[in-house]
Amino acid sequence: MARRLDRCRRVRHRHATVMATPRVIVLGGGLSGMAAAYALAQAGWDRVTIVERGPELGGLAGTFETDGHFYPLAYHHILQRDRGLLFFLDRIGALPDVRWRKISMLFQLKGRLFDLADPVDFLRFPMSLADKLRFVRLMLRCFGKSDWADWNERSAAELVDTWGGPEVRRAIFDPLMRLKFNRPCEEVSGAWLGARLHFREGSAPLGYIPGGNWTKVLCDGVTRLLDDASVQVKLGTSARHLGIQDDRVTRVDLDDGESLEADLVISTVPTEVYQQLLTAARPDLDHVRYTAVVSAILATKQRVTPTFYWMNLASLDCTASGMFMLNALNPTIGAPGDTCLNIMTHVPTRHDTFFHQSDDQILAGYRADFHRVFGFELKPFWTQVNRLGMYAPVFHRGYENPPLRDAVLTNVYCAGNYRTFPSIASTGTALASGVDAGAAILADHGGTSDLPAAIDGYRLASMPRG
Ligand SMILES: Cc1cc2nc3c(=O)[nH]c(=O)nc-3n(C[C@H](O)[C@H](O)[C@H](O)COP(=O)(O)OP(=O)(O)OC[C@H]3O[C@@H](n4cnc5c(N)ncnc54)[C@H](O)[C@@H]3O)c2cc1C
Repeated sequence: MARRLDRCRRVRHRHATVMATPRVIVLGGGLSGMAAAYALAQAGWDRVTIVERGPELGGLAGTFETDGHFYPLAYHHILQRDRGLLFFLDRIGALPDVRWRKISMLFQLKGRLFDLADPVDFLRFPMSLADKLRFVRLMLRCFGKSDWADWNERSAAELVDTWGGPEVRRAIFDPLMRLKFNRPCEEVSGAWLGARLHFREGSAPLGYIPGGNWTKVLCDGVTRLLDDASVQVKLGTSARHLGIQDDRVTRVDLDDGESLEADLVISTVPTEVYQQLLTAARPDLDHVRYTAVVSAILATKQRVTPTFYWMNLASLDCTASGMFMLNALNPTIGAPGDTCLNIMTHVPTRHDTFFHQSDDQILAGYRADFHRVFGFELKPFWTQVNRLGMYAPVFHRGYENPPLRDAVLTNVYCAGNYRTFPSIASTGTALASGVDAGAAILADHGGTSDLPAAIDGYRLASMPRG
């Protein structure tokens, strides 16, 4: 009898322990928020709520539908070194479906197109042979170096000049940095550029999942994991204000009038949004400045040649920074026979006038770019213009990730692609940063998570082509 009572007490105690897990509010339901919630739920925390402004989870990796087909908000490909992404694709059972393709990346310069991975084009490229050899040396050095912390204080210009030389910078990297950040190489972080080249986006095979848009497969799969773990999700409502007592956030006020009590908060919204929620100046976050993206996805029945996946538009007179032929990577995207293009512009900030132009004005600029490059008029039969106001921080020289544990509020943890420097801002690094925030909370409450180590040690077993 005594033993039975004891067992009952133990069961009650276990139940009480589970019931007593802190109430965690995750601000933002992009991939970093989803991964943070998953890390906690996986450890048995059962009072985790995600608050997401959009109609579904996914954020920048979200999807839209046209005529029964799904498309990303802007081009998305799977990187072979993006361990956080590969780990989660594996966990949701989608990794065996991933197919890998060598893509063609073109560089449009002074009215001509160059594929720098093609030996003939490489020789044609307007740069001396000695500089071409230095360019190859730069790329090989970057491919082989995975830890870029020693370049944090140095610029992209120094990096390129050291291993490539000033002519390589002027011909290739100055235009690319202008396209990406609208800044010269001197102001961009050398650590960021080195890490970016290490990921071999332009030269290694890129992945996709046949049958549609892979970011939808990812977001749907992680949403299922959250569902199975009973994570609460509040969609279509924004966090409006954070109620603070002493040095803790105790309440999250939503714009639908509801207030959620919080023991712990994970902020995965952009730092500029987080500061607005605090309604207090936070000089420690002021250095994080977001760039914006305007992205037009469109479909046409026209054949576009040459075939390419990625084209950098390096001429100063173009409206767009890049064009992507989405079905050159994923032949199954959209309806059979369609050519699906993403024409996009990196904009320095969402306050830039271009960001606020009408769809018609933006598309007129993109059609002019298309005509200049391909010599005929683009005739899309549908177009969707997406404005992504806070895409990624400018990774300037000396950029520092804001701390994982908020510097002022003792119960707030931070995740998101403003914390992934010097690595690239990708789906996988967002997922990994969410996992890190969840793991930090567990560690601070006497628990552990095996997810960070599992992601860190994750290796691809095979890369089926297709
Ligand atoms: C143009 C472009 C191309 C890309 N290409 C690739 C690629 O090829 N491969 C790759 O791996 N990655 C790519 N990425 C990067 C990847 O999509 C992002 O790094 C990742 O999705 C970021 O996730 P996150 O959760 O950190 O941020 P977000 O996705 O920005 O999540 C933040 C969430 O917070 C929500 N939110 C904001 N304010 C509030 C509020 N007040 N209350 C509640 N919710 C709020 C937002 O709606 C959003 O869902 C690309 C991104 C872009 C924009």
